[in-house]
Amino acid sequence: MKIVVVGGGSAGWMTASYLQKKLSNTNVTLVESPKVSTIGVGESVTVHVTRFISDLGIDEKHMMRETGSVYKFGNNFVGWDTGAGESELFPFRWNITLNDIKKVMKSSESTNDTFQALKLLHNYTLGTYFHANAVTSRFTDYWLELYKQNRINNDFGCSFGGYDYFSKHEKMPARDSEHLFEQKGLQHAYHINAEKFGEYMKTHVGLPAGVKHVVAHIDKVAVSGNNVQHLTLESGEQIIADLFIDCSGFNRVLVKHLDKQWKYYDLNPADSAMVCQVNYDDPEKDLVNHTLSIAQDQGWVFDISLFHRKGTGYIYSSDLSNEQQVVKEYTDNFLANARMEPRKITWEKKRLQKSAEGNVVAIGMSNGFVEPMEANLFAIIINGIWHLSDTLDRQGTKADWNSYNIKMSDTYDDIADFVLVHYTLSNRKGAFWDEMRSIGKQHNHKQLLIEKYKDARNTFLGAGQGHSIFVDYMWLQLALGWKLNIDNWPTKNIQNHDLDIVESYINSMENKTIECAKDFPNNYQYLKDKIFNGSKITY
Ligand SMILES: Cc1cc2nc3c(=O)[nH]c(=O)nc-3n(C[C@H](O)[C@H](O)[C@H](O)COP(=O)(O)OP(=O)(O)OC[C@H]3O[C@@H](n4cnc5c(N)ncnc54)[C@H](O)[C@@H]3O)c2cc1C
Repeated sequence: MKIVVVGGGSAGWMTASYLQKKLSNTNVTLVESPKVSTIGVGESVTVHVTRFISDLGIDEKHMMRETGSVYKFGNNFVGWDTGAGESELFPFRWNITLNDIKKVMKSSESTNDTFQALKLLHNYTLGTYFHANAVTSRFTDYWLELYKQNRINNDFGCSFGGYDYFSKHEKMPARDSEHLFEQKGLQHAYHINAEKFGEYMKTHVGLPAGVKHVVAHIDKVAVSGNNVQHLTLESGEQIIADLFIDCSGFNRVLVKHLDKQWKYYDLNPADSAMVCQVNYDDPEKDLVNHTLSIAQDQGWVFDISLFHRKGTGYIYSSDLSNEQQVVKEYTDNFLANARMEPRKITWEKKRLQKSAEGNVVAIGMSNGFVEPMEANLFAIIINGIWHLSDTLDRQGTKADWNSYNIKMSDTYDDIADFVLVHYTLSNRKGAFWDEMRSIGKQHNHKQLLIEKYKDARNTFLGAGQGHSIFVDYMWLQLALGWKLNIDNWPTKNIQNHDLDIVESYINSMENKTIECAKDFPNNYQYLKDKIFNGSKITY
């Protein structure tokens, strides 16, 4: 099977590397233009990347050292309720069942070493998460019941994992060189350098696995219906393949020639960004182990710590935000140490109705983009790669793309809903936010949160099957962070003695977390000593 990937950004090199490594009897060629640069943003990622690089046999510490990446333990939403200094941190965590809770409690009680005990309390596997489906009672069902009975406080963050605490206190959960988390454990992700990550995939995975690299501008695309017949390079050379994958970002080099239908996300406000890289004043104070997503008068700002610099961007709406005020707010509050002039990026809020059709698949921003919030795009890229690889493995390039397309559409639509409710349920003041709130009322977004929480596609299993990336607990956590009344959220018929068990699990998790954190090193110091000590990368 001959596959041609168009585009040499992060999406292109991730796709080409993975398919070349995982599929047998496959030759992958990647074509990238010397004239069109990569987008140069996209630096906060989710646990999908952690899992993805681990599947490819990449040692995370090597990747971090070579690219200036740091550990990320969550996403911190600052000022989204009223703008009065409140924040809500979303760590990476997953629902579990009572049986799994009992198991980890039992094993954790078998040791007197608090670090090992805490590690055992976090010791879940993929299998355990899959058990917590929509019909069983999940951790969050017990949590809701305990909360309604006034037996726990509403600090959901600390309840079933220590990472919320480690983020708030800038701790690296490690003793000497032993981490609390495993590389495959789905409890941490990274801030990666957008300019270096694709390059890393190319050098350390793609080329060694045998990807053929062609640096040339694609001049013409010959199509017939929804199939690409061949590509013509500027040199006149023609390229043919069994399957073409469009990873050309907003350039949409292949799909723009095809007769494609789009779905538009008209209610989602953001379609523009001003972006800029920023130097640290003092990395010891300013480098944080979570993404900062800070609500502003006209939209919101992402502030992403890398080891040597930060990546920032002001996300706003060309319709509803005042661009002059955007530039002023951004410059005044975030760009004191700017490394360059801020750059404007715009996009259409849309996705393909069919991500795959004929002999063309679109992966990454060529396939669609809502906006950057919640670091969703790398997760969709990886979802696409995993399910494409599986489809090709079973059906070859003449696959029936129906199931693949449903998964990709569900994921995009779920992302669009999730990012939209961040705006529409806010109590912030001002014209932009008033407009958002009226959309939320009109579409009953308070109820939407409950429906999403109950939806089987938003369980870990649903996410694993490719239907979502924002799972059940996140919809509940949003309701709590945005101070909604959760009295009408559903709870199941739960026995009192089971509630006692979950309550003591929460207490044990919290106590051991605080106890261990006293001895955990500062996040920046750990990175400096254990990851970047002796590193030669320069900026
Ligand atoms: C403001 C902003 C912030 C973002 N933040 C995040 C984030 O925090 N987390 C996240 O997960 N995602 C984020 N994203 C998305 C993320 O940037 C992208 O998903 C990621 O960088 C992958 O981009 P890409 O590889 O699809 O496209 P690009 O990086 O644009 O690469 C396009 C490639 O196509 C090639 N090409 C173009 N035309 C031709 C041609 N004619 N012939 C041959 N080759 C061609 C180019 O040379 C280039 O190699 C963000 C996006 C934006 C706009």
